[in-house]
Amino acid sequence: MAVRDAATGVELGRVPCSGGQEALEAVDAASSALGDWSARSTTDRATVLGSIAHALRARKDEFAAIITAENGKPLDESHGEIDYSADYFLSAAQEAIRLAEESIPSRNPARSLAAIPEPIGVVAAITPWNFPLAMLARKTAPALAVGCTQVVKPAEQTPLTAILFAEVLMDAGLPSGAFNLVTGDASAISRAWLSDGRVRKLSFTGSTRVGRLLMHAAADQIVRLSLELGGHAPFIVFRDADIPAAVAAAIAGKFRVAGQTCVCPNRFLVAAEVYEQFVTRFVAAARALPIGKGCEPTTRIGPLISDTAVARVRAQVDDALAKGAKLLAGGATVPVTGCLDRFFAPTVLADASPEMLCFQEETFGPLAPIAKFGDEAEAIRIANATPYGLAAYAFSSDAARLDRVSRQLHCGIVGANTGVISDAFAPFGGCGWSGFGREGGRWGLYEYLSWKYVCTATRVS
Ligand code: NAP
Repeated sequence: MAVRDAATGVELGRVPCSGGQEALEAVDAASSALGDWSARSTTDRATVLGSIAHALRARKDEFAAIITAENGKPLDESHGEIDYSADYFLSAAQEAIRLAEESIPSRNPARSLAAIPEPIGVVAAITPWNFPLAMLARKTAPALAVGCTQVVKPAEQTPLTAILFAEVLMDAGLPSGAFNLVTGDASAISRAWLSDGRVRKLSFTGSTRVGRLLMHAAADQIVRLSLELGGHAPFIVFRDADIPAAVAAAIAGKFRVAGQTCVCPNRFLVAAEVYEQFVTRFVAAARALPIGKGCEPTTRIGPLISDTAVARVRAQVDDALAKGAKLLAGGATVPVTGCLDRFFAPTVLADASPEMLCFQEETFGPLAPIAKFGDEAEAIRIANATPYGLAAYAFSSDAARLDRVSRQLHCGIVGANTGVISDAFAPFGGCGWSGFGREGGRWGLYEYLSWKYVCTATRVS
């Protein structure tokens, strides 16, 4: 399969188009390696993870160049993604060392109770293109830390990052078979994995549509799942918010990876009292974002990943305008010399309302629709009027309000007075149509563990 530069369409390389047969060979290798890897001491495994973290940072420029070429994001963002990925290995190594068998206080002197954490076994991962390295790191680090072995399929647009990642793992001393990468036909590969009883878990990050398909397919072999799916994040600005800070956070959160992250604010809700002030500042800041190839040092907005992605953003803009929204910035692609027509200008729509597509579905692009609200209850009602529940953001100078609102929002992650929330040591994940399971910190490890409960008689009756 040809892999292409996201900005120019130039071929970067070719990778194998594997199918079910190769997917099963990967499971063979992972199964063979499981006994040795899971039997090693936690310190031994954590040492390998530490070396991986170090190697990721040491090869930062090499990774960043590939991520930016395949994905299109600005180089600065690629550098940030590499640090974030390395942190997943540090976090998993530290948490695995802390993980211990637990003795459970027994209320009956005739028996003692213990809970023993055990690796689930061979685990599978399927990852998207928007964070080609971090989405792998979040799944691989905890799986390896607790003694699982892994089979992995990266997105078709970004396999070169995954191949370099595999090289780093091997160079860091991971034994052969502990990590197995398969590029190719997504449905054939996942079908093979989910019908093979040796694969005990699948961790998937991607669209809600594919998450649903995989959930059905996982039923036959009762495969455990973590699903990190689409988001539809509300970004709420209360009348007592620090407006310049809220605007800066909105720009940082909305336009990262050109709006193609699952936690990007998707719906802006702004209190009527500060609406004009927020919109004016936000539009000025959005218009000032430099658009261009990710490899240019000044670029803040790179290309969208595909023509389909461009068409989806355009359709949402057209729909909103037809339903009464006001276009204040962007609204179309802009030409970039020598590049494909995939550079969608940061777009701001005022007077957005719930019947518009952009208020109902994830955009996954640089579109910011803004609506006005009256009081706190109305903001929460609009924010929660969606089956998705990944991230949400709230801005206020009143700590009690932030606490109250955070607890009422239906979602897995809240950014309170911040637009940048990801942290490898914290539990990342959603609820509802955004999926289930958590990645990061000790919560990430639990996804790859099975707890065995042992009840021992302490006296013979
Ligand atoms: P996608 O189409 O669901 O693809 C994601 C992965 O699934 C890719 O590796 C893809 O392989 C694979 N895939 C596609 N069809 C499949 C099938 N029938 N069976 C098995 N695997 C299949 O998602 P995307 O458009 O690339 O990614 C964007 C979505 O991911 C957004 O909705 C975003 O919100 C979500 N996301 C969520 C999180 C989170 O943590 N919640 C993080 C990042 C992204 P191919 O590339 O080979 O088709």
